Amino acid sequence: MKEKTELVHLGRRPEWTHGIVNPPVYRASTCLFEDFAAFEHANRNPDDGLYYGRRGTPTHWSLIEALVALEKGGGDGWLFPSGLAALSGTLLALLEAGDHLLVPDSVYGPTRHFTSRILPRYGIETSFYDPLAGDRIVDDFRKNTKLVLVESPGSLTFEVQDLPAIARVARARGAMVVADNTWAAGGLLCPVLELGADVSVHACTKYVVGHSDAMLGAAVARPQLAARLKAHIFATGWTASPDDAWLALRGLRTLDVRLKRHEAQALEIARWLEDRPEVAHVLHPAMPSCPGHEIFVRDFRGACGLFGVVLKRGGYRDLAALVDGMKLFRMGFSWGGFESLILPADPTPIRTVRPWRAQGPLVRLHIGLEDTDDLKEDLAAALERYEASLSGVS
Ligand SMILES: *Cc1c(COP(=O)(O)O)cnc(C)c1O
Repeated sequence: MKEKTELVHLGRRPEWTHGIVNPPVYRASTCLFEDFAAFEHANRNPDDGLYYGRRGTPTHWSLIEALVALEKGGGDGWLFPSGLAALSGTLLALLEAGDHLLVPDSVYGPTRHFTSRILPRYGIETSFYDPLAGDRIVDDFRKNTKLVLVESPGSLTFEVQDLPAIARVARARGAMVVADNTWAAGGLLCPVLELGADVSVHACTKYVVGHSDAMLGAAVARPQLAARLKAHIFATGWTASPDDAWLALRGLRTLDVRLKRHEAQALEIARWLEDRPEVAHVLHPAMPSCPGHEIFVRDFRGACGLFGVVLKRGGYRDLAALVDGMKLFRMGFSWGGFESLILPADPTPIRTVRPWRAQGPLVRLHIGLEDTDDLKEDLAAALERYEASLSGVS
């Protein structure tokens, strides 16, 4: 089946939908067993059907079945109450005291916090590596390096990572690779498991839910690792709300059309911004000005609506004049919904391996489904406001 068809049909088993189009929201803690034999059978085979709410209901299973199929090379997966929980839950499941973990310097901020501040309390050591290292990552390996985290493109700064090269080094050293595949909408734009990752983790909060109204995370593992990962996940009690899983299922059905529109509009706006006099360069993986662009061309099937813009003049605090007064682009965390967003960003203080040096300040844009003429008008006015606020200063 082609992917567009899969997005429509995956996970809609008749025993879950009972004759309607969508699986309903099954809300459950207690599941009832008919008799002693059924109870005993369920105890021996808790994955065979309904067992206890924590192990999910058909609403969850429907979404998981779809997400695993979309992540080519996936064996099994599970849902988490947020993307960050999927990351922390996966890392805790795969690592133990005494292990060393490698994390890209461009990693999502909360992941950086979890790995560098929380994991040491469990005896797990983290060090950061240059996201553009490729196979040079071999120099960062230690005797006890057990896992490499990859996030491509990087949060805020969009470096595209050479996952196959990193995975080859990791495999030779007996280390696992976990990829944060959020930007690629969990397998749709980049098949990280086929490229060498052992587990793909992503925030469904972004494009899968797609409407900025629910938090949800997912982890999909290669078949060899799936049972171990799932056993640990069950043992630690991770579960997600069936209502949020249902919202994600609803989002999934239209993911292809939404993503294509986000991609086309974001590229149009990124190219338009590149020609603006106020802009130093655009950090969009599909454009040559983005570090790792050639890897993007090799490994990705498309882009989403999220990219960065580096301005020529001014500094982080000057961005107030840019963001204040925007009519359509609103300021807020997260992305992947139908609406356009703008975020002032300063990666300088958090970088430890590859210092962030740029001509001017950085803003991150998420291009929504609005008309691009309206979006350009909003951005043009913002850039003019920004320049006017700087004139006389420099
Ligand atoms: C948003 C995001 C997350 C976290 O997802 P939440 O659902 O917000 O917890 C993790 N990784 C990346 C790359 C993200 O953009």
